[in-house]
Amino acid sequence: MSEHNTETDERPGFAWDPEPEHAVGGAHFRAELNELYGHEQANRHLGALLTDLGERNLYDAAAQCNRCGYCETVCPTYMLTGRETLSGRGRNQFVRMLIEGHAKNTSDAAEALNTCLLCSACTSVCYAKVPTADIVLEGRRALTGYGDNFFARAAVNTLLNAPRLFAFWLKLAYLAKRTGLPRLAAKMGIYDFIGMPGLAEAEGGVDRVPLRFASEILRKDPELRPEGSKQPGWAYFAPCGPNFLFPEVSQATVSILKKASGPGIFADNQCCGLMAHNYGRLDDAREFARRNILRYEELKAAHGEFPVIADCASCAAFMKSYEQLFTGDAEWRPRAKAFAAAVKDILEFYPADKAEHGDKAALEKAGTVTYHDSCRACHGQGIRHEPRVVLQKLAGKQYKELPESDWCCGGAGAYAFTEVELSKKVLDRKLRNIASVQAGTVVVGGTSCLAQIGAGLRDAYPSARAVHYSVFIDETSPKN
Ligand code: SF4
Ligand code: SF4
Repeated sequence: MSEHNTETDERPGFAWDPEPEHAVGGAHFRAELNELYGHEQANRHLGALLTDLGERNLYDAAAQCNRCGYCETVCPTYMLTGRETLSGRGRNQFVRMLIEGHAKNTSDAAEALNTCLLCSACTSVCYAKVPTADIVLEGRRALTGYGDNFFARAAVNTLLNAPRLFAFWLKLAYLAKRTGLPRLAAKMGIYDFIGMPGLAEAEGGVDRVPLRFASEILRKDPELRPEGSKQPGWAYFAPCGPNFLFPEVSQATVSILKKASGPGIFADNQCCGLMAHNYGRLDDAREFARRNILRYEELKAAHGEFPVIADCASCAAFMKSYEQLFTGDAEWRPRAKAFAAAVKDILEFYPADKAEHGDKAALEKAGTVTYHDSCRACHGQGIRHEPRVVLQKLAGKQYKELPESDWCCGGAGAYAFTEVELSKKVLDRKLRNIASVQAGTVVVGGTSCLAQIGAGLRDAYPSARAVHYSVFIDETSPKN
C-alpha cells in the first residue's frame, strides 16, 4: 500500500486535474490517477516502479528527476523538435504536475506522453536513473480509452486465450496482403473507419509475410522436444516478431544455439505480454507473464536449470522486468524474479569464443558490416559490448562502427504507425548514419528495428539490408 493517499497526504489535489475529466482530442484524462489515489482502476496500473534507487510509487519516481536537463542531449523527440515538453525532463515534470493538479493543459500532456518512443536513452544518461519510459506508460494508462480500442482488445484476447485462432486470423490477413487487398482497404479509408489508421502504414512496412510460423516449424523439430531431452543447455523462447513475422530469425537462432551450446529445447511459449503492457492492457500482460512463468517452472521441474533465450531485445528486456508487474503480489513476485533471472538475450548469450572469421563468400556479399544498438538491448539491458565482439570476429576489417549507433530507429513497436511523421524523422537520421559508413549490412537485435530499418533501407538506400544478429551469424559462420 502506498504511503501517499488522498486522506493522509498534505499535498493538495493529488489528481491529474481538479476537474473530473478533460477532453483531449477524443480521449480524456481521468480525475483520479492510480492506486496512489485509491481509484477503482488499480489493476490498470503498476503497484510500484522498481528503480535503481529502490522501489518507488509513481510520484516519487517522477520526483527523482532533479531537472538537470542532461537527458535532452540524447532524447530523439527533443532533439528533433526542440520542444521541452517532448523531452525526458519535460515528460517527468508533466506527470509530476498532473499528479499535483498543477498542470492545466492536459492536451499538451497527452501529446507529450504519446510521442515518447519509450527508448530509455534518457535513463541511460540520467545520474538518478529516472525510469522515464515506465513513468510515461503509467501516464498513458491514465488516459481514458487507452487500451480500449475494440480491435486491439480483440487481438490481445485472442492471442491470450486462443493463440491458434490468432495465428489463423493472421494467416488470413497475410493472404490478403499478398493479394493486395490491404492497399485497396487503405485507399478506401477502411482503416480510418475502424479507428486504426496506422494499419495503412503497417502493411507497407513489411515486404513479405510468412504463411508458416516459427512455432509450427520448431514444434516439429524432434531435437527440440522437451520429452526427448535430459539436460537441455538452453530453451528457445519465440517472441511474436520472429514467430509471426520473421520465422527465419527463430530458425537461425536455434541453428546457432545448437552449434554453439549443444542440445536445447523449444519452450513453446506464449507472447511475452509486451504489447499488452505497452498499450494499456496491464492485466492481460500479467496473465501472459504468469503463463510463461508456469511453463518455465514445469520445464525446470522436469529438466533442471536452463537459460531461456529470446531473440527480440524488446521481449527479452520486458521479461527481465516481470517482477515489476507483481510488486504487490507475494506469491507471483518471487516466481517472476526467478524467471527473469533465467532470461537471456541471444545478443549476450551467444559465446564469443565460438565466433570465427566468417565464410568468405558470405562476407563478400555482406559488404561493410555495422551494428545498430536496439534501444531495449543497450538502454533496456545494458548490452553493447558482447555483440560487437562477435561481429568483429566474424567480419574482421569489414566491421565499421555506426555513428550514433544507439539512436532509436523510430520503430518502437507501433510508434511507426501511430506517430508517423516523428517516426520518419527519427528513422531518417538513422539512415543517414548508415549511409555515412557505406554499410552493406546493418545487424540488429530487435524485430521492430528489423522491420523499420529494413523498410527504410528498401526505400532510401537499397544497396544495404537490415539483418538480424542470429541470421548474420548463421549465414556468415564458416561452413564445414
Ligand atoms: S530525467 Fe534525469 S537527466 Fe533528465 S532532467 Fe531529470 S534528472 Fe536530469
Ligand atoms: S524514452 Fe526516449 S523519447 Fe522518451 S523521453 Fe526518454 S529519450 Fe525521450
